Amino acid sequence: VPVVALVGRPNVGKSTIFNRIINERLSIVEDTPGVTRDRIYARASWLGKEFRLIDTGGIDMSDEPMTVQIKNQAEIAIDEADVIVFIVNGQNSVTKEDEDVAKILYRTKKPVILAVNKADNPEQRQTIYDFYSLGFGDPNPVSGSQGTGLGDLLDEVVKAFPTEDTHEVDDSIKFSFIGRPNVGKSSLVNAILGDDRVIVSNMEGTTRDAIDTKYYDERLEKEFTMIDTAGIRKRGKVYENTEKYSVLRALSAIDKSDVVCVVLNAEEGIREQDKRVAGYAHNAGKGVIIVVNKWDALKKDTHTMRDFENQIRDQFQYLSYAPILFTSAIKGQRLEKIPELVTKVYDNRHRRIQSAMLNDLLLRATSIAPTPVVNGKRLRIYYMTQVAIQPPTFVVFVNDNELLHFSYERFLINQLRDTFDFEGTPIKILPRKRK
Ligand code: GDP
Repeated sequence: VPVVALVGRPNVGKSTIFNRIINERLSIVEDTPGVTRDRIYARASWLGKEFRLIDTGGIDMSDEPMTVQIKNQAEIAIDEADVIVFIVNGQNSVTKEDEDVAKILYRTKKPVILAVNKADNPEQRQTIYDFYSLGFGDPNPVSGSQGTGLGDLLDEVVKAFPTEDTHEVDDSIKFSFIGRPNVGKSSLVNAILGDDRVIVSNMEGTTRDAIDTKYYDERLEKEFTMIDTAGIRKRGKVYENTEKYSVLRALSAIDKSDVVCVVLNAEEGIREQDKRVAGYAHNAGKGVIIVVNKWDALKKDTHTMRDFENQIRDQFQYLSYAPILFTSAIKGQRLEKIPELVTKVYDNRHRRIQSAMLNDLLLRATSIAPTPVVNGKRLRIYYMTQVAIQPPTFVVFVNDNELLHFSYERFLINQLRDTFDFEGTPIKILPRKRK
């Protein structure tokens, strides 16, 4: 999915336009500089084309001087986006800060589209011509507060999306490591890419996703792409440690991954932030593996592993399907299991089950646990069929959708898991009323 980033100096209306485009009013929008945003990353679509939208203004770097913040946000846009929307305020003419943003954007080859906001009436729309001097072609007048001009702007954005034929078909297995700072993500990445039987094929800077690393694993005879999260491969940018930026990177890495390895630190146990991170992966419907790293650093007895496992199962109940792996990036413990499990989970996430087998399962399931009766009406399930993979998704045809409660749905999911190998992948069940 292409990524579109909104950039511009503070108070030009990035957040208002963001909300307009995603069609929700989640952020607080006020006419004061520096208001915090709740959400800075969201899915949107225009003319049937899906994309991800980033509001770089929401990445709080208030410790930094304003000039540094503006510069960082523009750099984030260049790093993250396929198309950049540069927003200026049509109520002023070009400011020094607009020029600062422009100077950074000149460095990218990615398409930059200029939007002149607050062009609320025809007179103001005249001033847009001042903005030609920024050097990004025709300025697009918009009004975030009134919603005008956004359609034309989005037409331009969609036109600038990378076309399909600029990419080769890439069927490598895409996976990523996400987790709190210092759990060992970069150590894991480096250990895996440092393996003798791994041939890294993309050179930094030659592809659009230069920070993701494609490699061939000679042992497994498979191609992988390691999706990078913040600063793993190129550390040292000021904004990499800001909370919102790491969340943004995690979300965007999850988005691009088939399988997500949620990394925990054995020394520190499970933290609140770990649960949030794992929740993102689960909600995205991706394959999930839980990696407990720094296992070497723990004093262990015979119960340690089982105790840790129980804690994980207790704290991450929604991830009951995720395999758990105990590793040491430093000592090289069980690292070879990571690509093996990633491959297995990838296959499970692509598994297709024939309808005949599903209906055998349904017969068996309903005889083990009769369908529930709600208000005197019994749930009837007539037929079950798989409609999608990634993740495996099953439609059950029923007499009444309302009768398929969470508990029976979970029972069916457990039956599916007992019968077929779906380790590591979420499963979805959708009820459909049969006419
Ligand atoms: P990231 O922020 O998640 O990428 O974490 P890093 O990979 O930078 O690791 C943070 C620190 O933990 C570094 O000092 C690493 O040397 C250390 N570390 C990483 N993996 C292990 C491990 O398996 N065992 C031990 N003992 N230390 C580790």
